[in-house]
Amino acid sequence: MRPSLLDPLFAPITSLDGVGPKVADMIEKVVPADLTDRHARAGDLLFTLPHSIIDRRNRPGIAFSPAGAIVTLDLRVDRHQPPPRGNRSVPYRVYAYDDTGEIGLTFFHAHAAYLEKAMPVGENIVVSGRMEWFNGRPTMVHPDHIALAGQADGLPLLEPVYPLTAGLSAKVLRRAIGQSLARVPLLPEWLDGEVKRRQTFPLFGEALQRLHNPADPIDVSPENPAWRRLAYDELLAGQISLALVRARTKRLSGRPLTGDGRIVEQIRAALPYSLTRSQEQALAEINDDLASPDRMLRLLQGDVGSGKTVVALLAMARAVEAGGQAALMAPTEILARQHFATIAPLAARAGLTTAVLTGREKGRERTEILNGLQTGSIDIVIGTHALFQEPVNYHDLVLAIVDEQHRFGVHQRLAITAKGDAPDMLVMTATPIPRTLVLTAFGDMDVSRLTEKPAGRQPIRTVTLPLDRLDDLIGRMRDAIGDGQKVYWICPLVEESEEIKLMSAEDRHAMLEEIFGDIVGLVHGRMKGAEKDEAMRAFKAGETRVLVATTVIEVGVDVPDATIIVIEHAERFGLAQLHQLRGRVGRGDKPSSCVLLYKDPLGETARRRLSVMRETEDGFLISEEDLKLRGEGEVLGTRQSGTPGFQVARIEFHADLLEIARDDARLLLSQDPELQSGRGEAIRILLYLFGRDEAVRLLRAG
Ligand code: ADP
Ligand code: MG
Repeated sequence: MRPSLLDPLFAPITSLDGVGPKVADMIEKVVPADLTDRHARAGDLLFTLPHSIIDRRNRPGIAFSPAGAIVTLDLRVDRHQPPPRGNRSVPYRVYAYDDTGEIGLTFFHAHAAYLEKAMPVGENIVVSGRMEWFNGRPTMVHPDHIALAGQADGLPLLEPVYPLTAGLSAKVLRRAIGQSLARVPLLPEWLDGEVKRRQTFPLFGEALQRLHNPADPIDVSPENPAWRRLAYDELLAGQISLALVRARTKRLSGRPLTGDGRIVEQIRAALPYSLTRSQEQALAEINDDLASPDRMLRLLQGDVGSGKTVVALLAMARAVEAGGQAALMAPTEILARQHFATIAPLAARAGLTTAVLTGREKGRERTEILNGLQTGSIDIVIGTHALFQEPVNYHDLVLAIVDEQHRFGVHQRLAITAKGDAPDMLVMTATPIPRTLVLTAFGDMDVSRLTEKPAGRQPIRTVTLPLDRLDDLIGRMRDAIGDGQKVYWICPLVEESEEIKLMSAEDRHAMLEEIFGDIVGLVHGRMKGAEKDEAMRAFKAGETRVLVATTVIEVGVDVPDATIIVIEHAERFGLAQLHQLRGRVGRGDKPSSCVLLYKDPLGETARRRLSVMRETEDGFLISEEDLKLRGEGEVLGTRQSGTPGFQVARIEFHADLLEIARDDARLLLSQDPELQSGRGEAIRILLYLFGRDEAVRLLRAG
């Protein structure tokens, strides 16, 4: 059970004064916690950390306040000047003065009663805000803070600045955070004394106070001991929970998988190519893992187009040879079906039964698949998340493969572990994840890398083109299509809230259809499954030669004879995404090209991104540049700016702490595997605080 002293932090944020349902919605957009299956709690606000501060310590006096500066002024109120009746466009002005001169405080759409109460004539007040000068006259429009001189203690001279979304006022957020802070109870220390001393970490509560009530600009830096302490706490919680999951799942397994090689040989013989050296190498590593009595937890990393799918297939064939079943999970339905289309015929050649299972299989068809999985008549199943959901039971699942899944947490890992007898697990990704990130996101996973592309690949020529030269592009496309080539045309998703109205995929499709006729197809995320399939099939078969698509094709889609990809509004995509998209071409032996269409004027970062794309095709280089341009967190495509799966730890600042946390976790668990010592009890609290309580549940389940 969760220790009851944490209850106030686990109460919903609406339990805080001033946080109603509307404010709660806005706050949920800024808290760094993963809120996919719960609402924000008071405790989540603790980890909503300021990214900078506003320094209000400057008190130069009215006449010496430079335009644009944030200043705090000690004033005496002289007079109020409300706007003329019925004229709301004239602001309400309050005139006040100090020894150096007079200032007009300006309020639009003001509430007179409020202003009269806040700034009574003749009283001394303190105001803080941005100084402006109009025609030589000093003014301050809507000061950030106004207080009577006797009550100015609460005025934050160093004000932390938090991430905000439209509609959420800084004041409301600050107030909510302040209340959460007040709810932090005195907690037992969970840190190892030696680590704490060497790192000069403050107490948990002190660290939070320091960050939310900074006394100096450096207090809010991720490199400050206060932030580092919290980062360490979070990394430690992560490492402990991963270690607990790993210990438990390793314990569960212990079945060596080997086969006589017959099925694998048949499939190899049916391949129209031979494997690359690194494919062979990865496969040998996987086979070793399968044959070992320890459970496999392996990451297969290979740039787009490096040929991960066939490695997966051969690993699955091996598992079936050993007498079990194998499952391959893809992130999207399109991808699941594409894998199925590739794999099913090859598997059939070796006499294996395959099935596809997504949200779309319904009724009798679904029942039959579920039956087949339960009785074992299906050897290999390919699908989406549905594969590891509740109603699916396997006869004997021994290998689970997860494809192109960047965000693969403990959650999913447990779901998969629960199926079958803790199956061996292989995670495939095209993102060259830095080693430190592998550690944070996956724990101690082994890694295989595909370092070369299949032979005969031609380089992809990448060009950038401003949108106003669209006509040139259309002309060149006409030639290419006449020559029998196929073209992807990628449009960014339209988000209603965006000011800049982008050409939606549907509009672009209509326009291209007008030019090229009925050889232009369309696929986007809001289409029905069957429509998507049909669009993909027609393009693959060559019935359509241009496929207008949103980023639904971003990961994994494989149409080897597509040779041109046009990415519209390329300036709006991140580097990793551009690289993924470009990887849809250059998969055959024909030369390919990638056209990055952009809209002028380009910002500095966008310009740099596009030139990186022009300069290199190397996924590792690109991800390095991506790190530089965007910060590490976003490399994995998560919406937060921090490191994926983490609220306060930022790998670019705290990588050194990760290794320490890992050793710390190992040592702790070797001495106290069930977390029953005094420190163990404190560690359980830590796990709750950082949302790793699944791991605590594992402990009790034994
Ligand atoms: P990714 O690693 O991006 O998932 P895929 O598995 O989709 O790559 O493979 C990309 C393309 O390369 C496919 O068309 C596949 O058939 C082909 N391919 C895979 N391995 C080889 C190989 N050894 N030789 C030639 N082509 C290969
Ligand atoms: Mg793939």
